[in-house]
Amino acid sequence: MTTNTRPVRVRFAPSPTGDLHVGNIRTALFDWAYARHTGGQFIFRIEDTDRERVTDEYIQAAIDTLKWLGLNWDEGPEVGGPYGPYLQSQRLDIYAEWAAKFLAQGDAYYCYCSSEELEARREAQRAANVAPGYDGKCRSISPEDLARYTAEGRKPVLRMRMPDGSTTFTDSIRGEVTFDHNFVPDFVLVRGDGSPLYTLAVAVDDVLMKGDSRSSRRGLAVVHATTDSGLPSDGRAASGIPNLCPLALCHGSRQCKTFQAQW
Ligand SMILES: [Zn+2]
Repeated sequence: MTTNTRPVRVRFAPSPTGDLHVGNIRTALFDWAYARHTGGQFIFRIEDTDRERVTDEYIQAAIDTLKWLGLNWDEGPEVGGPYGPYLQSQRLDIYAEWAAKFLAQGDAYYCYCSSEELEARREAQRAANVAPGYDGKCRSISPEDLARYTAEGRKPVLRMRMPDGSTTFTDSIRGEVTFDHNFVPDFVLVRGDGSPLYTLAVAVDDVLMKGDSRSSRRGLAVVHATTDSGLPSDGRAASGIPNLCPLALCHGSRQCKTFQAQW
């Protein structure tokens, strides 16, 4: 791992669909310690666009757990900060604005494929020994097809148009990493009902909140699209900070509250 002593802005961004488990806490602890070590900021953001599964009760429990552990945050719920709000459910206008920009500048497009059509094509890909993934069918839609889809009342999703080429970024552990865009099929940013997916919300937030994020390949594509739009960027969100393996998945999930009860 390369030595990094500049102040970092790292975020802990759980999507609490239950009580936080030890894997969440390990991530939070790592980020908190990294921020404190470098004299940077620890940002706490709640990813709650799925309000059916992420309840107010779970959000409050996450806040209480971090407080109980003494992992104080510099920006986030109850504290505020210059880049708030820090609950994604309160940032839907921002995601809609960016989705519209991506569409206007050609970085995204509407896809009208039904789930049955997608599944049939995935099946064909599997039969042909091709890696399953969206095939780009709606990158260009004929006026006739568009009229038919509209008449059928189809609600399109918005997909990222992955550019040709490759992306190279610096990962704090692995150093320079390059991936070919061919291996990242066009992915969905906004559902048919207009709600954003994490693929859009996380990357946009990391850019706007000027975070040093652990960007995924998809996230990096969205980050690049935001900079295409002229958003001032210091390139931070394109750097890589080690992404820890999911402890809870590897070693069995233990909710933090279990330990709290035993304290
Ligand atoms: Zn499509």
